[in-house]
Amino acid sequence: MSYVDEVIEKTILKNPNQPEFHQAVKEVLNSLRPVIDAHEEEYKRNAILERITNPERQIIFRVPWVDDKGQVQINTGYRVQFSSAIGPYKGGLRLHPSVNLSIIKFLGFEQVFKNSLTGLPIGGGKGGSDFDPKGKSDREIMAFCQSLMTELYKYIGADTDVPAGDIGVGAREIGYLFGQYKRIHGTFEGVLTGKGLTYGGSLARTEATGYGLLYIVNEMLKNHGLLIAGKTITVSGAGNVAIYAIEKAQQLGAKVVTCSDSNGWVYDPDGIDLKALKEIKEVKRQRLTEYKNYRPASEYHSGKGVWSIKCDIALPCATQNELNLDDAKALVANGVYAVAEGANMPTTADATEYLLANKVIFLPGKAANAGGVATSALEMSQNSERLNRSFEEVDAKLKSIMEGIYHNIDKAAKKYGYEDNFVIGANIAGFEKVADAMIAQGVI
Ligand code: GLU
Repeated sequence: MSYVDEVIEKTILKNPNQPEFHQAVKEVLNSLRPVIDAHEEEYKRNAILERITNPERQIIFRVPWVDDKGQVQINTGYRVQFSSAIGPYKGGLRLHPSVNLSIIKFLGFEQVFKNSLTGLPIGGGKGGSDFDPKGKSDREIMAFCQSLMTELYKYIGADTDVPAGDIGVGAREIGYLFGQYKRIHGTFEGVLTGKGLTYGGSLARTEATGYGLLYIVNEMLKNHGLLIAGKTITVSGAGNVAIYAIEKAQQLGAKVVTCSDSNGWVYDPDGIDLKALKEIKEVKRQRLTEYKNYRPASEYHSGKGVWSIKCDIALPCATQNELNLDDAKALVANGVYAVAEGANMPTTADATEYLLANKVIFLPGKAANAGGVATSALEMSQNSERLNRSFEEVDAKLKSIMEGIYHNIDKAAKKYGYEDNFVIGANIAGFEKVADAMIAQGVI
């Protein structure tokens, strides 16, 4: 049995009931075969694949809080510190009822390679809780965040582990988490990113994931002799990633015709009205059913359906496994040119395979959505310097990081004979740096 197959088998046996984690490990290890085969003896002797699939530390804890009716509620908190090979653990906190150890481990595992691809000195980690922020009052959100941090603060710090946002965690939650850390720990430090601009946040961090996604798509198109202007784009999601992906796509002259939330989706053939979308989602925190009040000519459908709309480029920006094989078939039948993942692992394994087999350009999340964490790393460096950079400076840096990622994954794919296979390119380019750093640091 090959080293890759051996480690995949061991991972599944050792981590039962963790399908998302298995999916992420299989996807990465399978695509590393060319590089592992070329160095099998060295990697095996150093147990690199076993180490890379076993988190350095996994913390699971109880999070008690009191709701507005005076009822005590109990959630589970997680922080998986996956790899510190190239820097302090870095990665978001997700608050969503679907959160469990499998989800956090798949996200933490992906984060290791994504963070490596940014070229910045950040290791990989992820955390969160099965707390559902939907319908909660501000006071309940604060009570939950303070309780989560009352345990989490023991394990994090500006030079150890720097959490940030993810699904369900935006500026409001980061504010409450930061306040509680400062109060308990007694230090004002860059322990979280995605902070508000009045207390150490970076300009352009809010926009970064969505903007970064469009910067890498644009660079990919340019290198294939195409222009983004005039292209039709479908986007899923209506959170932070989707909103700023739509904004940058429109600035670059493309037309975005869809968005979605967990209840349904919008088709606006004239192009999404971004002002309306921001008001609904960022200001009023409402459902997408409201969109029709702003745009009577648009369509609202309940359930899933974004991928049935004809487009040149599809940008899944909602959540894991939201684009399945049937969706991939519909996209291909409609002549899609490229799919780029704004969310983490939104495309199922069989859908990815189908897209690649049908010559659709596919940019995986660990490359395509790396702009968020890259800008978090820029926020960390501003906090260390105790200086702030302008929006233009951060945005220019983000653009050049995303263009750099494109060229890196393109080069890695070509080096191993897989031109235009950016799944292989991203996994190899992300892995090589982490593996080298692990070998250099000895058996730890
Ligand atoms: N949650 C984001 C991601 O998946 C951002 C993480 C960060 O900024 O640390 O990469």
